[in-house]
Amino acid sequence: MDSYKAERERMIEHQIAGRGIKNKDVLEAMRSVPRHLLLPKSDWDYAYGDFPVRIGSGQTISQPFIVALMTELLDVRPADRVLDVGTGSGYQAAILAELASEVHSIERYPDLADSASKKLASLGYTNIHVHTGDGTLGYPPAAPYDRIIVTAASPSIPEALLSQLANEGRLVIPVGSRHLQHLEVWNRKGDDFRHESSIPVVFVPLIGEQGWDAND
Ligand code: SAH
Repeated sequence: MDSYKAERERMIEHQIAGRGIKNKDVLEAMRSVPRHLLLPKSDWDYAYGDFPVRIGSGQTISQPFIVALMTELLDVRPADRVLDVGTGSGYQAAILAELASEVHSIERYPDLADSASKKLASLGYTNIHVHTGDGTLGYPPAAPYDRIIVTAASPSIPEALLSQLANEGRLVIPVGSRHLQHLEVWNRKGDDFRHESSIPVVFVPLIGEQGWDAND
């Protein structure tokens, strides 16, 4: 049936649990989502490798460990409504949909949004809504969100995203230069926003009104 199940188990053992991801729900989500089915068929054999994979339109999907780490940092609870900025392949959205009640995912390239939306629907996800647009502005129609995750690199924290975060909400985002960022975890308590920095990472740029300029 799923000939990649064994590869997925190896990925969990060596790259995810083996590197310190402990949250059982995150491990279970990574075990459940057939990552290869969200990638082009020519890349299926690379789907469970310990490296980023190209997904078209010059974009890449992060290595599995980074997806797991960001998801663990996000601390998603079952009733949460989540905004996922940078749909790409749709893999991160699928992981979130395993953990949350509702996921809104926004992507600036219409072809990527379209392909991810079709694949996620064919995998049976009914709680993921994919939108095309500039995610640096969030997605106001469904705001506020209990959790927001950004999987592209931003020069600074987009104000629009902070304003769409619910009270007691949390946001995880890579912030830094075009070539090196740190994961930042933002927490909102009323009008108080605090953040902590986590590990260094390298993401493709978040391009938009409150991110990088396309010509930078
Ligand atoms: N989370 C994705 C990988 C993200 S790669 C996955 O699981 O496959 C980063 C994605 O962010 C790319 O697809 C890129 O096109 C998108 N992106 C960049 N700037 C954006 C913006 N302003 N709004 C929405 N998506 C954006």
